[in-house]
Amino acid sequence: MQGGHVAYDQSTGELPLLSVRGLSKLFGSFKACDGIDLDIGHGEIHALLGENGAGKSTLVKMLFGILAPSAGSISWQGTDTAVANPAEARRLGIGMVFQHFSLFEALTVAENIALSLDEKISISELSKKAAELSIAYGLPLDPDAHVADLSVGERQRIEIVRALLQNPRLIILDEPTSVLTPQEADRLFETLFKLKAEGRSVLYISHRLEEVQRICDRATVLRHGKVTGACDPRQETPASLARMMVGAEVAGVEKIEPAADGAIQLEVTALSVSPRSPFAMPLKSVSMTVRAGEVLAIAGVAGNGQSELFDALSGEYPVESADAIRIRGHAVGRLGINARRLLGAGFVPEERHGHAAVPAMSLSENLFLSRNASDRKAYLAGGKLGLIRHGLVQQAARRISEMMDVRKSGDDPAAGSLSGGNLQKFIVGRELDRQPSVLVVNQPTWGVDAGAASRIRQALVDLAKSGSAVVVISQDLDEIFEVASSIAAISEGKLSAVHPAGSMNREKIGILMGGMHGLETAHAH
Ligand code: ADP
Ligand code: MG
Repeated sequence: MQGGHVAYDQSTGELPLLSVRGLSKLFGSFKACDGIDLDIGHGEIHALLGENGAGKSTLVKMLFGILAPSAGSISWQGTDTAVANPAEARRLGIGMVFQHFSLFEALTVAENIALSLDEKISISELSKKAAELSIAYGLPLDPDAHVADLSVGERQRIEIVRALLQNPRLIILDEPTSVLTPQEADRLFETLFKLKAEGRSVLYISHRLEEVQRICDRATVLRHGKVTGACDPRQETPASLARMMVGAEVAGVEKIEPAADGAIQLEVTALSVSPRSPFAMPLKSVSMTVRAGEVLAIAGVAGNGQSELFDALSGEYPVESADAIRIRGHAVGRLGINARRLLGAGFVPEERHGHAAVPAMSLSENLFLSRNASDRKAYLAGGKLGLIRHGLVQQAARRISEMMDVRKSGDDPAAGSLSGGNLQKFIVGRELDRQPSVLVVNQPTWGVDAGAASRIRQALVDLAKSGSAVVVISQDLDEIFEVASSIAAISEGKLSAVHPAGSMNREKIGILMGGMHGLETAHAH
């Protein structure tokens, strides 16, 4: 690596804590990070903003010595340094809280922390230190608790305490709030403000504009591995930040005022499902009604029964009681997915490749495959199984691509050649094209860029406007507020009461999402 030019902070004349120049990372010929410049000052909370796949995690892995840069320089307190490995990063004073936790479930909190430390220290001394830190920083933790018994929020606190034990000057958090309820996130923000007040710096990765504007002093925006903006997020609008992230104007979703008197299209009554695997969440007496013209959004932290609920509603796994699920009055609980589609329902599962689309097949082939026998008739010559009328299928694929603004390389390319966001637009469009009277979608915009997400959300709202009943299962509160006419939350397999969207705010949803977790009190000393 060659030496870079380190800029002094213009307002303080001080050297930045960390200064990165021209940092790049190649995976094969793919540039995940492309000539990144970044300065982090002392005592600032610095946001690293960007869509999924922008290169945020790759960048911080280089800063923490997990990945070796392909080019560029890193300077720490004015000295060029090659961060060879995480132990060296920690020695310099860099701590990291990962996106995916690396904890051993069978061990206690203190044992987990001990395992990660570079120097040897007795468990009892460690427990004492960890308990002190957890009190000082508002991170309640019981050192003797087993990790298996802890909530996601508590697990994250272990990671933070573990990083703080090294007394870092800079602490990096990779998408810390994606696994938290709003209340847990607020608690985390208090901790970050405390760190900042002590003069430590925080590099905070997120794609959530609202929280970045709330807590960060500066922001660096990445798109396709390049820096597209550096700003004070408080001086920006959500639209201007989104433009830097996406590179284009993002349209706001035009909402509907729901007709409260629409006919009931989907009715779920006391739906209980026992877990199919040790990792599945049982559904516990879930009830809801969804009317024509309504978008019911179901909020929740991942793993609280969302996929089990989707599987039950779609018929991916039929349930015991036929009456527990009614689609347009028909008891469908025991029916499979195709029978439910015949009754006018449509479903978009969460997982894309392998589930909703065959990557090696063209869009039109995928479209044909997704159609049930009665839909397919329209595409078969003479209405008999035999010749597929390719022209008609391709025409439909084209119509869907146009409706959803699917960006693709040719007229009818392989599904696998589309970017995640564009494939998702096609899959949602494919369901919408059938004009289902009931549509259930699970995490419709996960991993999708903001432009595509806005298109998908608008399409869901428009479908409801045209008289369908729509259920959106989502972890993304911004999405929920954009599309919902009514809102419920799922927590530990139980569904809350359904509330009109107008009566809800983030705090209220957070309490519903938390279920028991939301009432979780510190079991620290
Ligand atoms: P972000 O954290 O902003 O969502 P990442 O840094 O994880 O993005 O990924 C940036 C890009 O680099 C993505 O397209 C991802 O698929 C790719 N990428 C990340 N890690 C690897 C790897 N080990 N090998 C190949 N490609 C990778
Ligand atoms: Mg990432």
